Amino acid sequence: MNESKDFLRTIVEKDLKSGKYKEVVTRFPPEPNGFPHIGHAKSIAINFGIARDYNGHCNLRMDDTNPTTEDTQYVEALKDAVKWLGFDWGKSVYFTSDYFSKLYEYAVKLIKMDKAYVDSLDEETMREYRGTVTEPGKRSQYAQRSIEENLDLFERMKNGEFKDGAHVLRAKIDMSAANMKMRDPLLYRIKHAHHFRAGDAWSIYPMYDFAHCLSDYMEGVSHSICTLEFENNRDIYDWVLDTLDLEPPRPYQHEFARLGMNYTVMSKRKLLELVEGEQVNGWDDPRLPTIAGYKRRGYTPKSILTFCDQIGIAKANSMVDVAQLEFCIRDDLNPKVPRVMCVLDPLKITIENYEGSEEIDAPYYPHDVPKEGSRKIPFSGELYIERDDFNENPPKGYFRLTPEQPVRLRHGYIIACKEVIKDDSGNITEIKAIYYPDSKSGSEDTSGIKVKSAIQWVSVAEAKTVEVRLYDRLFKVEEPEGMEDINPDSLQVIKDALIEPAVINEKPDERFQFERQGYFYADPVDYTDETPVFNKIVGLKDSWGKKKKTTKDESKPQAKKVQVDGEVAPMTELQQLLFDKYTSEFKLNREVANTLARDEYLSTFYEKALCVLNSPIALANLVTNEVARELKQKQVNELKFNTTQVAQLVKMMDDETISSKIAKQVFEEMANTGEDPEQIVESKGLVQISDPAKILPIIDDIIAKNPDNVEKFRAGNTKLLGFFVGQVLKSTGGKANPKVVNTLVQQQLSEPERC
Ligand code: ATP
Ligand code: MG
Repeated sequence: MNESKDFLRTIVEKDLKSGKYKEVVTRFPPEPNGFPHIGHAKSIAINFGIARDYNGHCNLRMDDTNPTTEDTQYVEALKDAVKWLGFDWGKSVYFTSDYFSKLYEYAVKLIKMDKAYVDSLDEETMREYRGTVTEPGKRSQYAQRSIEENLDLFERMKNGEFKDGAHVLRAKIDMSAANMKMRDPLLYRIKHAHHFRAGDAWSIYPMYDFAHCLSDYMEGVSHSICTLEFENNRDIYDWVLDTLDLEPPRPYQHEFARLGMNYTVMSKRKLLELVEGEQVNGWDDPRLPTIAGYKRRGYTPKSILTFCDQIGIAKANSMVDVAQLEFCIRDDLNPKVPRVMCVLDPLKITIENYEGSEEIDAPYYPHDVPKEGSRKIPFSGELYIERDDFNENPPKGYFRLTPEQPVRLRHGYIIACKEVIKDDSGNITEIKAIYYPDSKSGSEDTSGIKVKSAIQWVSVAEAKTVEVRLYDRLFKVEEPEGMEDINPDSLQVIKDALIEPAVINEKPDERFQFERQGYFYADPVDYTDETPVFNKIVGLKDSWGKKKKTTKDESKPQAKKVQVDGEVAPMTELQQLLFDKYTSEFKLNREVANTLARDEYLSTFYEKALCVLNSPIALANLVTNEVARELKQKQVNELKFNTTQVAQLVKMMDDETISSKIAKQVFEEMANTGEDPEQIVESKGLVQISDPAKILPIIDDIIAKNPDNVEKFRAGNTKLLGFFVGQVLKSTGGKANPKVVNTLVQQQLSEPERC
């Protein structure tokens, strides 16, 4: 249990103490219209966690009231997820569809109480009658139907006598309620659709607001815990239960903040798009934030539950850094899994003074881990090491093998390079080396040779070929907006990585640390003895954010002064100089500085533009994004624009003549035509709009058109700010000044009722 109690557990304890409920009953109520994701894991952890902590019960209920999107495969996926996370729903899974008859009876009861009526307005009129946040709605003329007529119509709706949309059943509440949800909400709609469980028995289906509270009640739920966006629905929840005058105790709804995570999308609808659009390989693709994806990738239930625990339960929505989840899995695996050696990009080493072969006894676990077990690693005069663990022209601080610098083979001997063999095009094909017989790891090293790091290796004759799947983030940006933000390099398959034989022959575990590479998992679907397949779960350290500088991995013996990160090619001296200047003098972020410094053309272009305009950060961004993209498609001499024009463009951004969004458009035009950016802006009328008098009417219009979102925003869903700002920018074709829009939108939205 949490040491410090969250607000939900505080409520539960109070209710138990006061005797409001004898037993805590919660429920996890997913709609079976997609595979559950990490957000659902949070909800599962909360609902099942609370039931466990207070000796209660948590139901698993499929909220299957929308026949067109639901399916049994999703029911199974939801059950799998709950089970895999280690929870138990007891005897049976519940389905809202099992309550369809009961729900129908409750609806009839409301009609008989004159608390519900059949409405026959068309959709548009109904929306119009609903009013806005600032204006009350108007009740439909059909609300005056007699109870008998309503009963008759409702029954005929059920019997399938009417077309979809011809009528609906609505609660008779209050068309001028401040909470717009309470303006006679819909309870039932006609839908002639086959239901995956109920078949064709029903032509009407209950709405969430009606079905959910009553399902909770019928199951004896005490605490109905849901996410914040349902805050305004709580009034309906209470109205239905109170109006029907049900026998107590009844459930109450409590809301918590939804989990959002960067570099991914979370809603099932968007995940479905990725799956159906074949952007990923199915719902369990290890790049997806689905539970099935994490499971297949090699995450452990414990790591996910730890993550859910760490992020806590709050009342305000926030975005969690995916690095935190990655931290949790590293932290879980670090002391548990065997450490072995695998070479992903092999470079042959021939040790000229070594004859024969031997087996080196090496522990699977490092000394500070309370686990035992070891294997034999074959050693010989022909080995493979990782290609980038050798460097002919090493930059400063390169600690691995070079023509002058020896290196230790992990668990083995120290070797030194004698000769570099290259092919006709200058690629290194082999290293001739010698080894120091007195330097063997584990025994007393009397060789007197100093090394700065130890690298992984395998013996040529005994190494096994394996397939390794390296996963990166599915999206390039923190808050992806669509498919255009997909990271094209999110999956890299290496068909012929080489691994030490014990991993395949002994199968000491399913998860491993491949030394210096990261954590890997034997793919539960595609792994065969002929073709072993390993998924990369996570790297050894956070290579994206670089926010957390120290992880536990760095307590590894060689890690202190040694460059552990073998993934990045070293920089030349010049590149390093540029990089240092860009980060320290120009204050560029490391990624941008890295891109520029490593590309001679880009850095020259950048330096030239800087001579025209002293705006290092903005110029760097434009050069590394826009100019670099052009260069992917064109040769340097095909570019239609020059450094001066790029500087001109940045200047217009700097002095806010144009927005950065428009700048992209101008750049594109300039790249196509070679026209001066100033001319483009002039002739197309792209000058930025910063005058509040011009922007305010647009904002007001958007506020009036989106009453639901206004309501949600005011109810605390401040994430919607982005929605409003986005709408304004969109309706000005990107010309409005985002800073000004942001301030004005906040100001307009926080004014409660304006007349
Ligand atoms: P999605 O928009 O991803 O389809 P949903 O809210 O429609 O999600 P449901 O299947 O209705 O998904 O949700 C089941 C339960 O899981 C609900 O109680 C819901 O509040 C909760 N849930 C869904 N997404 C999240 C999230 N991101 N964080 C926390 N809880 C979530
Ligand atoms: Mg949903």
